[in-house]
This record gives sequence, structure tokens and C-alpha cells, in this order.
Amino acid sequence: MSALILPALALAVAGPALDVPVCAAPGERLDPLTEAEFRTQLPATLPVPVRVLPCQKAAEAAVRIIIFERPLAAEPTALGAARIERRRVTGDVKLFQQPIANLIGSRLPLLLARAMARVAAHELRHWREQDHGHLGQHGWQAASVGTAHLLAPANYRHGR
Ligand SMILES: [Zn+2]
Repeated sequence: MSALILPALALAVAGPALDVPVCAAPGERLDPLTEAEFRTQLPATLPVPVRVLPCQKAAEAAVRIIIFERPLAAEPTALGAARIERRRVTGDVKLFQQPIANLIGSRLPLLLARAMARVAAHELRHWREQDHGHLGQHGWQAASVGTAHLLAPANYRHGR
């Protein structure tokens, strides 16, 4: 009997999955291998259950990840960004491939996608916790994320 009860309890603890559509920036194309690997890496990286959705679902989701090749002119070294509107962190998370690739020194899909998933986890924490600030001097929640954290193995789960 207890074998029947345990799976139900496990589902209740995990809660509903967070739907996260992933899009290329308007007018841009993603490298298919990097995109496929990113869609695999993202759920392995986030501390909450996630369903990665196609971009077509972006308008109806509470949060979305938009992948740009280049950073915004105002912040050329930013790896990612979470938009703030009226003091609230919105669900519009941007990732910038070129500065991420420059930092890790590679555009290999496996490595770039892993690093992008770490940056996404950082930006999504700002949204999930409605926290504009950063935690600690090192690690994925710090203002400045280092190469070691971006390339940590897939089974290295980040934070809470
Ligand atoms: Zn941040």
C-alpha cells in the first residue's frame, strides 16, 4: 500500500512544472545543436521542475528566455539580463551568447549550452524571488559569475 502513496507524495512536493518557452531573438537563428543542448541542460540546472517549451508558447507563459547573439550596447559584458518594470522583475529573461562564449573560451554546443543554462538559472532566480540583488561574492547567485560555475557538471545543482 505504501508503494502507491509515495509517488503521489513526491508529486505534491515537486509542485507543477514551470513552463519556460525558449526563443531566438527576433531576426536571429540559433545553432540547432546548441539550442537542443540548452533545452536539455536547462531542466537539469534549475532547482525547480521545468518544462522547456517551443517559442510559440512565449506569449502565454509567465516567463520566457530569449537568446541573443550579441549583448545590449548599454551593457556589453552582460551574460544575461532580467527586465525590471515598475520595480518588479518581469519574466523576460535575455541571454547573450557572444559574451558567454568569450568568457568560457568556447562555442562548442555542449559547453556553451551548459554555460547558458547557468546564466538562465541566475536570471530566473531574480524573477522567481523578485529579488533585484545578488547573493555572495562567488557562485551562481553573485553579481559576477565565473567560468568555473558556468561549466560545472550537469549534476551540480544550483542553489535552492
Ligand atoms: Zn543578476
